[in-house]
Amino acid sequence: MKIEAIYKLYSEYYLVDTDTRKIRENTIFFALKGDNFNGNKFAEQALKLGAKYAIVDEEEFQTNDAIILVDDVLETLQKLANFHRKKLNTPIIGLTGSNGKTTTKELINAVLNKKYKTTATIGNLNNHIGVPLTLLSMTPKTEIGIVEMGANHQKEIEFLCNICEPDFGYITNFGKAHLEGFGGIVGVIKGKSELYKYLKKNNKIAFVNPADKIQIEKTKNLQKILFNDNLKFLEANPFVKISNDSTIIKSNLIGSYNYTNIAAAITIGNYFKINGNEIKSAIEKYIPTNNRSQILQKKSNKIILDAYNANPSSMQEALESFSKSNDVSKTIILGDMFELGNESSIEHQNIVDLATKLNFDTMYFVGEHFHNTSTDLQKFKDFKDLYTYIKNNPLEHQSILIKGSRGMSLERILDLIN
Ligand code: ATP
Ligand code: MG
Repeated sequence: MKIEAIYKLYSEYYLVDTDTRKIRENTIFFALKGDNFNGNKFAEQALKLGAKYAIVDEEEFQTNDAIILVDDVLETLQKLANFHRKKLNTPIIGLTGSNGKTTTKELINAVLNKKYKTTATIGNLNNHIGVPLTLLSMTPKTEIGIVEMGANHQKEIEFLCNICEPDFGYITNFGKAHLEGFGGIVGVIKGKSELYKYLKKNNKIAFVNPADKIQIEKTKNLQKILFNDNLKFLEANPFVKISNDSTIIKSNLIGSYNYTNIAAAITIGNYFKINGNEIKSAIEKYIPTNNRSQILQKKSNKIILDAYNANPSSMQEALESFSKSNDVSKTIILGDMFELGNESSIEHQNIVDLATKLNFDTMYFVGEHFHNTSTDLQKFKDFKDLYTYIKNNPLEHQSILIKGSRGMSLERILDLIN
């Protein structure tokens, strides 16, 4: 079946689903395949659960008229998303970068939502499946779309841009994340800059942080809007405070690195004519979730939980920011950073050296990579060892920064901290 025909079915309700456990009435079920599942097998069940149609790519599962056979379900989903995007008369803001995409996306969404009907990426659905699903969750009523695009290798952002066709773009930063897949920091810059390339080619607009020299260089020939001149970082003590003209904005975000995330949201809010008080209220209300830079006040200890993820750039930012805080006794618990390829041992050593220099009161490092660094600081080869140690040596009256890659799941330590 041609995309036009599938679009016709889709545009009856503007609903698509890929998971039979969360199926909605009148949706179109796309039978995607993963390493451990074959969605084709669930097509009939999807219809029973309320789907109006199902799209499959294995003939044996096309057992009734509501089941539509295509060559490739994933490709059909991506093509439908782009076909729909072209029909939508909606400005779309595309976001990428190494760190802070989701935070920035949520902030922009909160700000723009004050005046417009927005649709933004849900959670972290930022890949070759998530981006199409985000687009397909927009309807003709959507006034602005905000799409997070993630990547861990070259050409991925180009591919996602060609599906979502952003009118505006913002790159949070070029950092040392996914070094393995990108081939080092030069590769990261090149890969993320595919968004700028798309904007340039299509005569679209970038929002740019003027303090980031590489981004200024990379957007030399681009139509761009710089962060407002009147934005000023005041402090991160622990929460980031900003002045915007004469308005003081007190966010619930910790870590001075969140300044740029907030500044981007303010700049974009101004561009779309949201008034200053509305911007302030949207940002002040936003509370991060999912172990992303959260503060947990326990009876004895204060925890800065940043266990959602880590890479060399975000680790460095977090350590420097923590070192400047007013906390009295500071403890860091750092877990391994993954996906660093050849640079892994040097980057782990750099973090250990930086921590040594910043000289926190107590420092624990956990994971194979940190374990292999050369340092006199306390390190543990795996989480179990750290857990046992802290169980026997409880932390008291400390401010504790906890940060590591997702795979380390350092939040598991929380039940030991009171
Ligand atoms: P993912 O690649 O998982 O989608 P993301 O880019 O969406 O990540 P967030 O989820 O917003 O990023 O933030 C993850 C972590 O990155 C935060 O908890 C914080 O430690 C760090 N971080 C956020 N913003 C910045 C920034 N501007 N610079 C450096 N580090 C940041
Ligand atoms: Mg994200």
